[in-house]
Amino acid sequence: MPTLARQTVAHLIETRRGLVFLDCGSGIARLHDPMFKEMLQRHQRALVLLSHWHQDHVQGLAALPFFLGHMEVTVAGPGPQITGEKAADVLARYGGAPLLSQPLPEWGGLFRGGFEIVDLRAGKQNVGGEKVEVIPQPHTHPSIGLRVRDVSYITDTVERDESIAFAKGSAVLLHDAWLDNEGHAAAGAEAAAHSTATGAARIARAAEARQLVLTHLNPAYDVARLERMFLAAAAIHPATQLATDMASFSFTAADDAAPAAPPERVEIDAE
Ligand SMILES: [Zn+2]
Ligand SMILES: [Zn+2]
Repeated sequence: MPTLARQTVAHLIETRRGLVFLDCGSGIARLHDPMFKEMLQRHQRALVLLSHWHQDHVQGLAALPFFLGHMEVTVAGPGPQITGEKAADVLARYGGAPLLSQPLPEWGGLFRGGFEIVDLRAGKQNVGGEKVEVIPQPHTHPSIGLRVRDVSYITDTVERDESIAFAKGSAVLLHDAWLDNEGHAAAGAEAAAHSTATGAARIARAAEARQLVLTHLNPAYDVARLERMFLAAAAIHPATQLATDMASFSFTAADDAAPAAPPERVEIDAE
């Protein structure tokens, strides 16, 4: 659920080759901000990586033709190996007329450079010109952790040891922090589906992530409670920040370091 200050999860990495989105929640609406106008114009290619199919992670898809219509666009999400279903079959249910002008798998004509839907599987793969690594995760419906360009994105899952090796040495770790410790103690099913901020910090510390961003924040928590949650996480992993809409920072990916190259940027819109 979005709040007055936050949209649902959509993170954007700008690289020299194009744009990579990590989830496509309502945060995609922030592309209306003038700061993105030039960025959108200077790229011809976008890859949209989806952690799973829950509405808060995909509700921005309908706006992609509006923002990215001049580009070549690849949408990739967990495929049959992970969920038992092809991504295109799931997205076909996202809607056709009158909910959308055309069902998503038939969007080819809406993007000048072409459009494809790709199934992701566990492990390393090349998708839309990017090297992407995927790890299956438990959630109410299976989700996947994603690693691309030295950014690890682990959301909608619990604190798990498997995430440590997966995120090892990341420049940036974006991690689910839906619950604080009191929330976790009081939670029923949610505790089996999401992580705590301190759990995210333990993962970041063990993985030696250079920066932890606490994302997928709980809309029921007020600012004071989020601040307490942040301080508890930062006590474990000092290089921690709470995701806020429009926050951005630059980094150089270890596997992509090239002399005189401009740094890559992550834009953050978070629930
Ligand atoms: Zn979610
Ligand atoms: Zn979910």
